Amino acid sequence: YNQRYLEIHLNSYDTKRYLLVARDITGMIRLVHSRQTFLANMNHELRTPLTVLRGYLEMLSNESLTDFQMKVVQTMLEQSQRMTYLLEQLNQLAKIETSSNADHNKFNMSALILSIKKDMDILNQSGHQIEFDIEPDIYILGDEYQLQSVITNLIHNAIKHSGDKNLIQVRWHSCEQGMKFSVKDHGIGIPQQHIAHLTERFYRVDESRSNKTGGSGLGLAIVKHALKQHHSHLDIESQEGAGSCFSFIIKRNLISDDKTE
Ligand code: ADP
Repeated sequence: YNQRYLEIHLNSYDTKRYLLVARDITGMIRLVHSRQTFLANMNHELRTPLTVLRGYLEMLSNESLTDFQMKVVQTMLEQSQRMTYLLEQLNQLAKIETSSNADHNKFNMSALILSIKKDMDILNQSGHQIEFDIEPDIYILGDEYQLQSVITNLIHNAIKHSGDKNLIQVRWHSCEQGMKFSVKDHGIGIPQQHIAHLTERFYRVDESRSNKTGGSGLGLAIVKHALKQHHSHLDIESQEGAGSCFSFIIKRNLISDDKTE
């Protein structure tokens, strides 16, 4: 159960009294568990037929087909790939939600960002100019896998939602409360009324616009939950037509002075 104390000051009597509020949340916890079990089962059950389907479609795409047939097979392949991606994202979200601080280890966050930069340099065929400004060798206590997911999601979003020639700036710098990570783009931006909802599951600003860029609408939900595990939250600043800046702070208590591996 959840326990909270409310301190009541009664000036006239100058006494302190306490009110104990107890709430039984067993039902809520059961509900969360059954949702997680459902997600895990659904993921498993859908993955097998999808793999079979994709295998046959790939076989078909190597046959001599008419242009029309080829187009149909390609579309089916694309859609099945999208479903596989969606299942992977759902799986990742479920894992992050159920993980705990016990999975936290010391690792070099600066090196992690630089390794992501290296992968991006190899894979970046979009022509985007991505500038990295990283304070070196900052070790933190956290889940490396989760934070890798946070960083790649934010950078991929910046790429997806800004024009080819636009500059994207990635920074990892010290600030008053600890270390701040930010990704700033000069892309399409986000209308103010959507900003508060972006981290909700499946929330997308504009379906027609988002369908073109692919994705699942789960990326920022993953980011939110992963950051929560690190006692942090996502900060979003955006101006429609001018660009967006997504950032989070890793607080001082999660930064390690010990720089040995
Ligand atoms: P998706 O898989 O659709 O990218 P996300 O959860 O990562 O899902 O993002 C949710 C929505 O937030 C996106 O569909 C897009 O509309 C908006 N969004 C996210 N990042 C940006 C950005 N850098 N610029 C503009 N819009 C963004």
